[in-house]
Amino acid sequence: MKIGIIGTGYVGLPTGVGLAELGNEVVCIDKDEEKIKSLKSGKVTIFEDGLEDLFKKNIQNEKLKFTSSMEEGVKNADVVIIAVGTPPHPVTKEADMKYIHQAAEELAQYINGYTVVATKSTVPVGTGDEIEAIIKKTNSKAEFDVVSLPEFLREGFAIHDFFEPDRIVVGTNSPKATEVIKKLYEPFEGKAEILFVKRKSSETIKYASNAFLAMKIHYINEMADFCEKSGADVFEVAKGMGLDNRIGKRFLNPGPGYGGSCFPKDTNAMAYMGKKYGAPLSLIEATIRGNDLRKTQMAMRIIKAVEGIDNPKIAIWGLAFKNGTDDVRESPAMQIVEQLLKNNARLCVYDPKAVANAKKILGDKVEYASSELKAVKNADAVAVLTEWDEFSKVDLQELKKQMKTPKIVDLRNMLKEKNPVNMGFEYYCIGAN
Ligand code: NAD
Repeated sequence: MKIGIIGTGYVGLPTGVGLAELGNEVVCIDKDEEKIKSLKSGKVTIFEDGLEDLFKKNIQNEKLKFTSSMEEGVKNADVVIIAVGTPPHPVTKEADMKYIHQAAEELAQYINGYTVVATKSTVPVGTGDEIEAIIKKTNSKAEFDVVSLPEFLREGFAIHDFFEPDRIVVGTNSPKATEVIKKLYEPFEGKAEILFVKRKSSETIKYASNAFLAMKIHYINEMADFCEKSGADVFEVAKGMGLDNRIGKRFLNPGPGYGGSCFPKDTNAMAYMGKKYGAPLSLIEATIRGNDLRKTQMAMRIIKAVEGIDNPKIAIWGLAFKNGTDDVRESPAMQIVEQLLKNNARLCVYDPKAVANAKKILGDKVEYASSELKAVKNADAVAVLTEWDEFSKVDLQELKKQMKTPKIVDLRNMLKEKNPVNMGFEYYCIGAN
């Protein structure tokens, strides 16, 4: 099939690469000329495991093309996928729809023959109706249907999740569009559940899922606080809870709070919609408040660990919002770093992938190290903020040798099993004493 994808970010690019690998002819469109220039020259613009090889392979076999021209990407397409950002509105925190509306208006002009317009961006309930109206108004002759195709990929695992999805959700009110989408997802038949629902249900499924996961994270974080005070151990509690199939093991790791480009904005957008429709979502509202507060609480733990030390140097391990990605958007690690800076902390930071993105925000306010051991040289404490695998493999003897004062504030509980206390570290983890 011929597919146009509008937006080549963390969703659009892996989706384009994946669909090309399945044999479709894909044209990725972005209005960011720099991004397109880089992609055209064969350079991937984001880090995702396994992305680069497939990207290069499909450019070479001419299944994957890049352009900044909407016309080029849309005019021959059977399916046009919208994957532009839906950032939070700075004041109301509802989803800001300006990029979606713009994309709909721009693509409408080039629709040529029956085209399915599929929204992969996370969008509020009723957006399908809005896009439909915009296209009709801009191009009254256009033959098209709008479907909702929410994206569930996890950053850091985008390629894996593209080829091995848990489920594919399609929201459509049109039998004709249903046939087109069935053909698009034919390679997944028998591999993943493909759920066809009403367009508004599909739009809601995405927000309801993300808000539920965010609540689960916040729940175990509050449980961790409870365990610290009561003398229980949150690891044991999480394990015991997770063995219940109704609860499940995943998303029960306590930490510094959820972040990233999705959970914070999607919980806020869902809470906003609850108010808008007169159906308040109090659990989600409490989750948002608690998660915001958590970052400050975590920064305070680090500050407390170096209390009494004159002009302490703190090493930071991890800046990305989670492992496997270079994305620092709404990263708890970055928010904690900012709070530490407000408290005049002297920081040396390290992240295996996210330093370039972090530098754009932190500039020269921190020192940058090229490895975890270089970051801790003469440090009075190290704070583990992102769950990169390599942090759990660090040699504690070597770590101790490099540090001025052996203190670890492990907000990801990555070193607990190595028993740092036995090796002479002052060690603080989450949810256990
Ligand atoms: P992103 O900011 O990384 O990428 C969006 C891209 O769209 C940018 O490159 C931008 O230049 C481009 N763009 C904006 N308007 C355009 C236009 N009119 N024409 C052409 N290009 C345009 O965003 P993202 O992280 O890929 O997220 C996209 C959407 O997918 C959001 O709604 C997000 O909530 C949703 N989503 C994201 C993830 C994730 O893990 N990042 C997962 C699931 C869903």
